[in-house]
Amino acid sequence: MVAILSYPNKRLNNKARTVEDVLAPDVQAVIKDMFETLYSTENCAGLAATQLDFEEPLAITVIDVSEEKDQPYCLINPEIIASEGETNEPEACMSVYPSYVSDSVKRAEKITVRYLNQQGEQVELAADGFLAKCIQHEIDHLNGYLYIDRLSKLKRSRADKKIAKVRRFLESE
Ligand code: ZN
Repeated sequence: MVAILSYPNKRLNNKARTVEDVLAPDVQAVIKDMFETLYSTENCAGLAATQLDFEEPLAITVIDVSEEKDQPYCLINPEIIASEGETNEPEACMSVYPSYVSDSVKRAEKITVRYLNQQGEQVELAADGFLAKCIQHEIDHLNGYLYIDRLSKLKRSRADKKIAKVRRFLESE
């Protein structure tokens, strides 16, 4: 288990470091830790290393959007190489009070992402729907962005007010 960082922690804006050797034991240990955290966090479809309490987060994201939680994806050094269409679906984030805050975000409808898998093999994956949304959300994390950074000024200021309220509420508990 690794602790999940919460907004407005500035470390959420750190960019991930490129993984040089996927098979290195410390990298494999990070992946294992991340999957453990993913599967022991309720309603969690994906996590990026940059939102976790790692000193130097690597460019790794773990995702499982299946209901049975039996379809793990580990994307290392992911890069979107093609995208098409547009959607505007609600999103929430484990780092941004997911029980309280969500908003719709414009994303590509379909993407092709190139990455290394946990075995260090290069993979090109075409994704749409919830998985495509999730991958784009996690890659944003690896670049130091949160989904709320993609909101219009108006929606962002509404979200910030809501977050401030939630934080006051949680602190008073
Ligand atoms: Zn997130």
